[in-house]
Amino acid sequence: MTHLTLQAVTRRFGAVHAVDDVDLSVPDGKLVCFLGPSGCGKTTLLRMIAGLETPSSGSIHFAGRDITWLPANRRDFGMVFQSLALFPHMTVAQNVAYPLKLRKVAREKQTRRVAELLELIRLPHMANRPVTQLSGGQRQRVAIARAIASEPQLLLLDEPLSALDAKLREAMQVEIRLLQQRLGITTIMVTHDQREAMTMADEIVVMEKGRIAQVGKPLDIYRDPVSEFVADFIGLGNILPVQYDGAGVVSLPGGRRIAVTPSPSAPLADARQPVASGDAIRLLIRPEDICVKAATETPDANRLPGTVIFIRDVGASLEATIDCAGFTLTAATTPRETPGLALGMPVLAELPPHACKLIAARTA
Ligand code: ATP
Repeated sequence: MTHLTLQAVTRRFGAVHAVDDVDLSVPDGKLVCFLGPSGCGKTTLLRMIAGLETPSSGSIHFAGRDITWLPANRRDFGMVFQSLALFPHMTVAQNVAYPLKLRKVAREKQTRRVAELLELIRLPHMANRPVTQLSGGQRQRVAIARAIASEPQLLLLDEPLSALDAKLREAMQVEIRLLQQRLGITTIMVTHDQREAMTMADEIVVMEKGRIAQVGKPLDIYRDPVSEFVADFIGLGNILPVQYDGAGVVSLPGGRRIAVTPSPSAPLADARQPVASGDAIRLLIRPEDICVKAATETPDANRLPGTVIFIRDVGASLEATIDCAGFTLTAATTPRETPGLALGMPVLAELPPHACKLIAARTA
């Protein structure tokens, strides 16, 4: 069931189209991430869903009801923002109980619910501690417990982890995701961190300049980005300007021709137009799809000779930058796959035709 639907939602600030004609459905019980670079409209879109901002045009429906003009305090959504806004003069338990108190929930029921929530966020032993004496991650958990205390049907999170250090942030990503799945609460989270979105989301909404660039499951977007912008924003990728020569062949920068699987009539990834011979397009290949071979192996059109110019060694995996005369490629490999890989080494970078995606070039 679709819980939340946005139809042609637009928000202008003077001449700025912060959110521009957005249509979106958020299914029940899922975690959806709004992802995009700074200024693309993520927060404005979330604030309109929260009722903290009104659309210039368009409509928002929740559980079948038009809520476009409903004030925030009547939407009953849970919210956690970057600045957590916990009450510093209150204890952990008092913070979590606050929304229940506002709703005049009976005292015993409040106590029971707070105990349940503190158990859920694994801080039952800290009920009486002032929130000022908690670590960043603990404060984060209290903010989430407070947001879900009154069992909201929708949880809105705006960069809730951005103030945490990398390690704690990763731990909290898993924690929030597990909690969300356990409670089955429909959740929308704003982030500009693509790894965070890939880790946590059922669906990612990639935004570009106020518009939706692509919506889909994390891996589908990673594997089949619809545009150069999305390909570039999600994951590491080698994006090369190429020319389509027809019959599944493209010319790389410098003129070398390689085979790609898409046939001449196949549409570009964005489905706007079929690939035609002579088209200037982009070839996307992910680092893990490039096979690094010894220079002594049999040459082939899709095995490009090059020289290793940089190696990032992170123990179990290696990232090699290969200069192919005219362009560079980044390949992900392991010490086992490519033993003895060293700087200055001549290699063959193999681009399997099926892993070469053709995408429309970014328009100005
Ligand atoms: P960030 O990741 O930096 O928070 P964002 O993707 O959340 O960015 P928004 O905060 O939604 O982006 O802003 C979208 C655009 O709208 C930006 O150009 C911003 O300057 C503009 N904007 C947002 N709020 C206002 C406002 N109250 N008045 C004027 N312009 C605004």
